[in-house]
Amino acid sequence: MAASDKNSPLDFTTFHNVINNELTSTAATRHGINPATAEPNPEVPVATQEDMDKAVAAARAAFKTWSKTSFEERRAALHAYANAIEANLDGFAKTLTMEQGKPLTQSTTEVGMASTWIRGLSSFEIPTNVIEETEDRKIIQRYTPMGVAGAIVPWNFPVLLAIGKIVPAVYTGNTIIVKPSPFTPYCGLKLVELAARFFPPGVVQCLSGDESLGPLFTDHPGIDKISFTGSIATGKRVMASCAKTLKRVTLELGGNDPCIICEDVDIDAIIPKIGILSYLCSSQICMMIKRLYVHEKIYDQFFEKLIAFVKTLKVGDGTEADVFFGPVQNKMQFEKAKDLFNSISTENLKAVLGGTIEESKGYFIHPTIIQNPPENSRVVQEEPFAPILPVMKWSDENDVLEKANALETGLGASVWSKDFDRATRIADQLESGVVWVNSHFDVAPNAPFGGHKQSGVGVEWGLSGLLGYCNSQTQWLKKSF
Ligand code: NAD
Repeated sequence: MAASDKNSPLDFTTFHNVINNELTSTAATRHGINPATAEPNPEVPVATQEDMDKAVAAARAAFKTWSKTSFEERRAALHAYANAIEANLDGFAKTLTMEQGKPLTQSTTEVGMASTWIRGLSSFEIPTNVIEETEDRKIIQRYTPMGVAGAIVPWNFPVLLAIGKIVPAVYTGNTIIVKPSPFTPYCGLKLVELAARFFPPGVVQCLSGDESLGPLFTDHPGIDKISFTGSIATGKRVMASCAKTLKRVTLELGGNDPCIICEDVDIDAIIPKIGILSYLCSSQICMMIKRLYVHEKIYDQFFEKLIAFVKTLKVGDGTEADVFFGPVQNKMQFEKAKDLFNSISTENLKAVLGGTIEESKGYFIHPTIIQNPPENSRVVQEEPFAPILPVMKWSDENDVLEKANALETGLGASVWSKDFDRATRIADQLESGVVWVNSHFDVAPNAPFGGHKQSGVGVEWGLSGLLGYCNSQTQWLKKSF
């Protein structure tokens, strides 16, 4: 492709699968829904088994040469790709708000993170470990690419989570086929259309389809590794399907993050942070604060100030200025939220803010705060993925730790205190893949991220995430017979 074509702006009005660097269409098409208006978005392809087989054949062929390229070569292609995403930031951000519903400011941040992640993830050196070296022999452990990866992406962070799989795969010498969520296929298709300008045919491909497409990925004997992000229930199905061909799997699944607030915090300083970190993306983030435990000594004051702050956050169409709460992403999620909101009355919970869901054209839900619900209430036990926050009281450190660790999920958790030693002592006892002190949801391309217990298997990002796309090979190198 000529350099000028590489730089031409992407057209965000028509959407195609990308197979072997060609934009392809399918006989059948479908469309997503704009969650702010409930209007249909543009048509997208519905990939078939034949498309899948073609993409896998192209990926396997490309692997033979791509796996032999140098890290420098791959890094250069990735950096050019990052620049191209930045050049199309506006188009990606608007499309993301159209398909996902999140406010334009949050979409712009997500697209910006994509290029940061590309540069960060491709800056690692993949090590070769010398295990033993004598005059006679050397034992080394090195890492080789696995082959063809399949990326299964959810609807809450369609840009960052696709990039967070594409980059580790291709940087370590693999090829990859991306499957966006049927709810949010648009940015994923465009990300890969753009990638086709910078990578050889078959290295990065994308298939959009309906709910029957995921199992075609996990069943396919020509795919060597699946990186899946989504719900725990689907993660179990993915693992079972991958077991048939013993594919390698990384699973990034749901969470129900606890956040423990100690009595010594500066309430005014942290309230805006806690409010934002509980409700970003209308709480549809795997690692949001979802169970807030506030020390009883400051509970009333904290609770009142939290409500006052959350009331200042505007609900509306993500394209409107100053909106913080966009709609939830899809009708299924909206209905699930309604069902969970019903438990407020059936379980006699006290909603001090919000508490009901009004019918509207889009899938809008006003923020809801539940005052001190019992530990066994649904809103504490279940991951809401909607803007409803339970705020519990605690007094005893061991007791709050037990509650924080009580669930089958273990994705993220945080502790907030002025006393750093105390906070780290509590943090060390939290059972989750990521733990923060005096923050929540900090992520970076060089920091691994993954879940304990049913929140996942393996990690993504950081060196460990990159190695998740590699086989370990031990070489015994004897210099003489
Ligand atoms: P989901 O499990 O419904 O879908 C995720 C993806 O899997 C979609 O692309 C879907 O089409 C595909 N899929 C569905 N059935 C499949 C099957 N049988 N085989 C293969 N693929 C299949 O999840 P979702 O509703 O899109 O996302 C929300 C969930 O994801 C939440 O629970 C959230 O916590 C979790 N999540 C986790 C992380 C993390 O990194 N841990 C990040 C974001 C979201």
